[in-house]
Amino acid sequence: MNYFSTNNNSPFVNFKEATIKGQAPDKGLYFPERIPLLQETLINDINSFSDEAIAFEVISPYVGDTIPAAVLKDIVEETVNFPIPLVSINNSIYSLELFHGPTLAFKDIGARFMSRCLGYFVKDQPKKVTVLVATSGDTGGAVANGFYDVPNVEVIILYPSGKVSTVQEKQLTTLGKNIHALEVKGSFDDCQQMVKDIFADADSFENLFLTSANSINVARWLPQQFYYFFAYKQWADKNNPPVVAVPSGNFGNICAGILAKASGLPIHHFIAACNANDTVPHFFETNIYQPKKAVATISNAMDVGNPSNFVRILQIFDLKINDLKKQLTACSINDEETKITLKKVYDQFGYLLDPHGAVGYHALENYLQEHPSQKGIVIETAHPVKFFDVVEPIIGEAVKIPETIQDQLKLDKKALLIENNTEALRSFLLKI
Ligand SMILES: *Cc1c(COP(=O)(O)O)cnc(C)c1O
Repeated sequence: MNYFSTNNNSPFVNFKEATIKGQAPDKGLYFPERIPLLQETLINDINSFSDEAIAFEVISPYVGDTIPAAVLKDIVEETVNFPIPLVSINNSIYSLELFHGPTLAFKDIGARFMSRCLGYFVKDQPKKVTVLVATSGDTGGAVANGFYDVPNVEVIILYPSGKVSTVQEKQLTTLGKNIHALEVKGSFDDCQQMVKDIFADADSFENLFLTSANSINVARWLPQQFYYFFAYKQWADKNNPPVVAVPSGNFGNICAGILAKASGLPIHHFIAACNANDTVPHFFETNIYQPKKAVATISNAMDVGNPSNFVRILQIFDLKINDLKKQLTACSINDEETKITLKKVYDQFGYLLDPHGAVGYHALENYLQEHPSQKGIVIETAHPVKFFDVVEPIIGEAVKIPETIQDQLKLDKKALLIENNTEALRSFLLKI
């Protein structure tokens, strides 16, 4: 399988090159040259396949011969070695809980898969491989955890001092070994700028092979298909496939789901549930794609004004917008609606959503009211405890902290405090 750039101005590459490069040289996103069709038995007899076997079948065509089957099997097994249950909230709505991984958010799946692929690709590299990533919170934890103890790879995470939650900071700063946390006296934008400056000047680090763990990387995007298959496996009424609502920010998650459907997975309809950042819902209404500056909301991991992966969704439909609209609905849910939904679902059904999941639930509920014969799944992208500062005042109760997180909160933070300029990062890089 080869990948082309959505900007159509870069050479085709295989999975290995696409993973190492991240973004195509023309700044487009890599996209597979064809969408593989799955064998029918995988769908018709899905309950006779293990999760690992499903994941392996789904990803193999994309990886091609860049990773030997035995190695890929191990990678896939380590990627999905935590539960991904489909839990009933009420008669018509189910929650696919993607928060049972080490950092309690769905990004664990993509980060675990990507880290292991990259680890395999660079193991014979003569230079030390250094993954640089700037985070506003969730990505850093998932990447740190995914790359922890991967041989031959050093990870450097830049995060804005005082601007990440307590849980998020512990997830970044307590691992040690090959994970280095730099606490930057500045904002997330400063962190991102420092990383960009270093990449622009990568040649000056002779001893380092620099790469990024950005979310547009194919090795983070493609494995996100796995759990849509796991959801269908757990879906009882196979004759009536589910409507699936995905809380969406950069649109990588939902794009993976739509790709899975294009490969043969039965999904009745997709809903892109956005918060006040409504670039895509606006596009659905007007056919005009107008990126906006992101506005802050209580579902902050979706505060994206120009969703990178939307071009990949267009690509799946060969840029035919009418075909796309038959399979996907997009809507925008505001903070007030999100809070009301979160509280209502907790009070009525005893199910605690996180703010992102609440956006998805609200969007799904609206859709099902107009389509009462359907049932649906909301993709629950994070554990509510990750956002306890938002959730607790809404429900008026403390959120129970899972044991793994309680243990993590007891560990000592290890981070190097640095100034918010590129020189500070440069001198750190020259020393490692
Ligand atoms: C990253 C994130 C999202 C948005 O996912 P995209 O793939 O960017 O659309 C939603 N919820 C949570 C909790 C996240 O961390």
